[in-house]
Amino acid sequence: MRSAVILLSAMLFAGAVPAQPFNQPLVDAAEVPETDRVENWTGKSVLVFTPHPDDDTFSMGGTLALLAEKGNDIHIVIFTNDNKGSKDPEMTRERLARIRRAEEEEACRVLGIGKERILWLGYEDGDLEYADPQRLRGEVARLIKVYRPDAVFTIDPGADWEQWHKTDHRMAAGITKDAFIAAEWHLYYPQHQLDEGLEAYSVPVAYYYYAQKPNYEVDITGVFDKKLEASAAHVSQFPPSVNKYTPELSDMVRTMLESRAREMHEADGRYVERFRREEAP
Ligand SMILES: [Zn+2]
Repeated sequence: MRSAVILLSAMLFAGAVPAQPFNQPLVDAAEVPETDRVENWTGKSVLVFTPHPDDDTFSMGGTLALLAEKGNDIHIVIFTNDNKGSKDPEMTRERLARIRRAEEEEACRVLGIGKERILWLGYEDGDLEYADPQRLRGEVARLIKVYRPDAVFTIDPGADWEQWHKTDHRMAAGITKDAFIAAEWHLYYPQHQLDEGLEAYSVPVAYYYYAQKPNYEVDITGVFDKKLEASAAHVSQFPPSVNKYTPELSDMVRTMLESRAREMHEADGRYVERFRREEAP
């Protein structure tokens, strides 16, 4: 919701500092063997967590397109239904949730990911921090045990400091990281094993988007057009649709979206998406 409104409104119309850390400069770049680089992954299980059905596209749409092209097994978990981010007086929460779901499914289709791979946790937009944290952590830990991912992509909670995030993003960042621990130790949610036979699982490596200190970048030059097209699918996040809903993205907004996206992702003549990469201790 406002994630995208703020982030991309800023991107589109003001050239202002984005509301979230976004493709910040690399700090102490991680040294990763070429064969282990994300661009070269094939056949890996990848689990993505996103607060709203657009943060995944804007932060890592190119990476998702690359992973899909190479036949990786991707599942995207979306915490909220994003049903409050509209200023259209005629809009209802129910209708907005349907619109946002359809936009996310279209964006994922463009990126090569079928809608059956999107898991909606269904929390109300803006209310994630008011959910029961113990239950929410258990939901996330359970999904980690179910999918046993080779890598998790999620929003950055910060490494040795607490990173600023807007509402929903704060909770998604903290709870996902906490769930790594809960998934690793079987005594946290023993019912997962007792009820479903799910064994504990340790996430080998995490890639955090919206990182203040990214240490890793994925070259998305070859799929940048897909990222643009997927971003444009989130029509209701942009003016004028966010103020008075229309399913069409105007040529003017599309042009500005493209130009700002190029500016924000360009690095040394390539396009990149940046993450903080963290291996399991
Ligand atoms: Zn968001």
